[in-house]
Amino acid sequence: MNHKLFEEWILQDGPPPQDERLGLQEHLQECGECRQLADAWRSAELQLRRASQAAPAAGFTARWQARLAADQQRLQRRQSLAVLAFALGAAALLLGSLLLVAIPAAGSWNLYFWSWLYRLLQTAAVMISLPLFLLSLLRAASQVVPLAGWVLAAGVMCQMMVLWVVSLRMLTQPRRIG
Ligand SMILES: [Zn+2]
Repeated sequence: MNHKLFEEWILQDGPPPQDERLGLQEHLQECGECRQLADAWRSAELQLRRASQAAPAAGFTARWQARLAADQQRLQRRQSLAVLAFALGAAALLLGSLLLVAIPAAGSWNLYFWSWLYRLLQTAAVMISLPLFLLSLLRAASQVVPLAGWVLAAGVMCQMMVLWVVSLRMLTQPRRIG
């Protein structure tokens, strides 16, 4: 008898053809090897059919979404931290290079640093406050002053701008303190 053929019949999907089933059953009674195979195959098939499809645990979607949100938050935090670190690093680099340029070879380092810092802050304050002040002045004047007065105001404005630029230059130009 051909074991190979019976094995094929055993392992095939569904029962063998009618006239071959008898031959197979006869062979299974005689041949322990094929009987074992048939039994194993039948039980395996049964278990496969019985096993339900693996389903995700309850709340899987919610957990997944929460984890996704947390991941995104972490990424955003990391990115903003990187930006902050970059900005701080750039500021430190700028300050350091400015200091290197500003420090005279001979002279009091401490005094020079503080005077430089003071000048920087003063300049910043002027740069921020003066245009704002002028703008508010202009806005107030626009409600009172007629067109004839505007020419005068423009002239004054130009003079003030010149004054501003000049004072800015005087403030920013490094002077030796000795
Ligand atoms: Zn056999």
